[in-house]
Amino acid sequence: MQLNRDNNVIEDVRNRLSVASSVTILTGAGISAESGVPTFRGEDGLWRNYRAEELATPQAFKRDPVLVWEWYNMRRERLSDIEPNQAHYALARLEKRVGDFTLITQNVDGLHEKGGSRNIIELHGNIWRVRCTGCGGIKDNHDVPIDILPYCVDCGGLLRPHIVWFGEMLPDDVLSSAYSALEICKIMIVVGTSGIVQPAASMAYTAKRAGAYVIEVNLEMTPNSGIVDRTIIGKAAEILPLLI
Ligand code: NAD
Ligand code: ZN
Repeated sequence: MQLNRDNNVIEDVRNRLSVASSVTILTGAGISAESGVPTFRGEDGLWRNYRAEELATPQAFKRDPVLVWEWYNMRRERLSDIEPNQAHYALARLEKRVGDFTLITQNVDGLHEKGGSRNIIELHGNIWRVRCTGCGGIKDNHDVPIDILPYCVDCGGLLRPHIVWFGEMLPDDVLSSAYSALEICKIMIVVGTSGIVQPAASMAYTAKRAGAYVIEVNLEMTPNSGIVDRTIIGKAAEILPLLI
């Protein structure tokens, strides 16, 4: 583990990336911070006196789907005019030149897709998709606001946000594709994630154990810092363009 952002470290990582055949990235809320999306701990508290933990649950949706959808409409509205930043764009450029590239994200804001990334595994879903509680069908939906309540055109079932809520499991297929990408990659970069929320918190370790060279980019040290090969302290939107 090495902590600095001197030019030798940047150049070493850049050289490794320039010849890498297989790269896996893990991003968290920190990569979107400079686009103006609050990180989890920075999130500004209450909406109509509710905390996120009281709204982003299957129980809350069952009790009051109108309320939950109103909250998601507020969040959609806030996100609708937000743009990707230089960190998102740098990862999209890297994908174009690496043969085998996977981007795993905990973010639900859709900014990687908007920034041009293609092979994305969204661990926690995407705020711009809806899922039918009847037939399970998943569809893109960019309406701001969305009509409340929204129903499935195929089966008439109630639509919900395609988000993994508190108390819900991550889908098996999503997890298994994430783990295969971690196990085959030669280089992994962990960007802007606190290393506290599971299962993402242990993904750097999974890649490291499978033989990858692991780099962390964050504003501060995290629980991942002790196991990665390099921690580069700085803003994602400044560091990633230097590396890529
Ligand atoms: P987190 O908020 O717990 O941690 C953010 C991390 O990013 C911190 O370690 C912080 O030091 C770092 N950081 C902040 N600004 C940075 C910057 N400019 N450059 C580099 N690093 C920076 O986020 P998490 O680990 O992703 O976990 C939070 C959970 O909340 C996730 O489950 C996620 O789904 C959800 N969430 C998503 C969004 C989003 O979609 N943008 C926003 C908030 C929360
Ligand atoms: Zn349906």
